[in-house]
Amino acid sequence: MEKTELKITGMHCASCAAIIDRSLRKTLGVAQSNVNYANANAYVVFDSSKVSATELIRTVEKAGYKAQISDSADAGKQEEEQRKELNQTFAYFLFGLVFAIPAFLIGMVFMWLGIPVPYSSYILFLLATPVQFYVGWQFYRGAWASLRNKTASMDTLIAVGTSAAYFYSVYALFFSNGMEQYFEISAILITLVMMGRYLEARAKGKTSEAIKKLMGLAPKNATVIRGKKEILIAIDEVLVGDVVVVKPGERIAVDGTVVEGISSVDESMITGESMPVDKKKGDNVYGGTINKNGSLHFSATKIGANTTLSKIINLIKEAQGTKAPIQRFADVISAYFVPIVIGLAVLNFLAWYFVFGGTVSFAMITSVAILVIACPCALGLATPTAIMVGVGKGASNGILIRGGEALETAHKLKFIVFDKTGTITKGVPEVTDVIPFGRNSVEKVLTAAASVEKSSEHSLADAIVRKALGLKLTKAVNFKAIPGLGVTAKIGKENVYLGNMKLMADKQIKVDSSGIHSLEEQGKTVMMVASGKNAIGLIAVADEIKESSPRAVAELRSLGLEVYMITGDNERTAKAIAAKAGIRNVFASVLPEDKAKHVKELQKKGKVAMVGDGINDAPALAAADIGIAMGSGTDVAMETGNIVLMKNDLLDVARAIRLSKMTMAKIKQNMFWAMVYNVLGIPIAAGILYPFTGWLLSPVIAGGAMALSSVSVVTNSLLLKGKRI
Ligand code: ADP
Ligand code: MG
Repeated sequence: MEKTELKITGMHCASCAAIIDRSLRKTLGVAQSNVNYANANAYVVFDSSKVSATELIRTVEKAGYKAQISDSADAGKQEEEQRKELNQTFAYFLFGLVFAIPAFLIGMVFMWLGIPVPYSSYILFLLATPVQFYVGWQFYRGAWASLRNKTASMDTLIAVGTSAAYFYSVYALFFSNGMEQYFEISAILITLVMMGRYLEARAKGKTSEAIKKLMGLAPKNATVIRGKKEILIAIDEVLVGDVVVVKPGERIAVDGTVVEGISSVDESMITGESMPVDKKKGDNVYGGTINKNGSLHFSATKIGANTTLSKIINLIKEAQGTKAPIQRFADVISAYFVPIVIGLAVLNFLAWYFVFGGTVSFAMITSVAILVIACPCALGLATPTAIMVGVGKGASNGILIRGGEALETAHKLKFIVFDKTGTITKGVPEVTDVIPFGRNSVEKVLTAAASVEKSSEHSLADAIVRKALGLKLTKAVNFKAIPGLGVTAKIGKENVYLGNMKLMADKQIKVDSSGIHSLEEQGKTVMMVASGKNAIGLIAVADEIKESSPRAVAELRSLGLEVYMITGDNERTAKAIAAKAGIRNVFASVLPEDKAKHVKELQKKGKVAMVGDGINDAPALAAADIGIAMGSGTDVAMETGNIVLMKNDLLDVARAIRLSKMTMAKIKQNMFWAMVYNVLGIPIAAGILYPFTGWLLSPVIAGGAMALSSVSVVTNSLLLKGKRI
């Protein structure tokens, strides 16, 4: 299966997106297709042995639109393309305006004022015709495209509505003197719709600003050392292993590891953390970040599409293109709405003319108003624009949300489960106590422990090895990690075991546990060290909680979530640490493979988020409704999480959930406003108030309202940008 992204041009409304989507889905070999109206992209997953990307493009063209393979590297060209489309829309609008203004003056203003204009009907005919067929051509084309696909779209409504007004007037003028004419209405309507489209396209462009900013971060060039000389090369020529030189104030080109120099680096564009981060030899740097005060030499480790920045950009692009489940509602409505509206307009015409005895022109003009006011274009914008702004806002705060579904689910969460080590705690434990048993010495216990732990990658092992720095370690063989319990290896003739009480019980090693409880109650993790069948001592380790953990837990609770902590550590230690973070619910002594089970158990009662670093909790992250991966952009985290937090700060978990709630609120507001226009507008347009008050909804007002409704929906989504999360 292959994945491709197509840039589509010529879409005017959500129903256009639906038409393209349907054509793509029907194509043999296409497994998945998702057409996003808000960013004019189609994401297609297809079987390349059955269908080619060129055929996909042809499919889109057959549906009546244009497509090209979207090359994410060529952001500049795409932007150019977008600007061209925008300018063209504006040109159409201006063209319409030049004719619509005199038409408005002659057909409406002078009429009301009672100022007679000689040959006014003929002048209006001359003014309306170019607008109807030049500017309005795209509506006919769109209507035709949807007709061929056996549906109707917004273009259909405008084409039918304005044609009714126009051709009726032509008939009235040339074949049946004395009847009223409505040339100005069709000209003004088309111009208003173009204005709406122009404003909408402009606002829509703003919804993708966050990603454009990210795309502009990577510098074009980099200075590398080759043959002992510094040379300036294009960024795509940098190779893994090249030593890259960055001077103060320059942008770092690719990901790498510092080999020389000290400096601080502004990583805010990637992590959302505004404080610069100190860098010295051995630290990682990321492409797109800014070197502040010192010169750095770093060895390139990831280039091109593999850099953290490229991965973020791809993740965000894909996420912005996905649909939230709530959008299905809008899609279904849009699909049935247009045909229903056309039916209603016809019924309205028949009712006024035959039942209530209205004139043809009255019946017709109310029907035109219905066609125009009922256009569901704002509804199609309600979800995708909010998702784009929401996901973009997350990204600029170091919160990567993988798609509309994650964004929607996050606001329904009931439970949130935190992994302890590295998530609630700093994940850098320190040895606090080494207590030898019997006649053993501190040194002996520590040496044995560190000799074994040298081979382990666990953070507990690091702490022990660090503590033993300076001691002469002995050779250990047959190292084995026993997940959730501890480690073992052979030193000399003896098997050495290092781990928790469960491990000791398993190996039938007797341990005096009297001193352990009080250590554990302080939140320390206690590990026994045994040589053969004898316990020789214990090592206690403390991993402090992150400063922000208690506040984050409190915030999450006030957001209505029930907070849990899960850990492989024992009950007492776990409880002590949980208490410091303000967490009451604890799952302790959980083997790594059982973490997912607890998540599934909670899922029976509501939606669950699991927060971890993806290291030994990837299955639990995957099992949860929302996996939130923390870990400063490690690959594991980026691949497993539905939400990825670039900064190692628990407060971002609360921020992510607040962002989800805000975005969903926006979507619902948008849908409400989009529907209100339609639902209230239709009966008024049908003339329901006319018999009582004489009020009619002029098609011109209906057109203005329609244009405004789209613009107001997009603007409402954009307001999300300014909100604090
Ligand atoms: P967590 O859920 O906190 O990440 P783990 O499942 O990795 O914890 O480990 C659970 C327990 O197993 C630890 O608290 C420790 O007692 C023991 N353990 C695991 N790995 C080691 C190790 N390398 N050395 C000593 N003890 C270990
Ligand atoms: Mg862990």
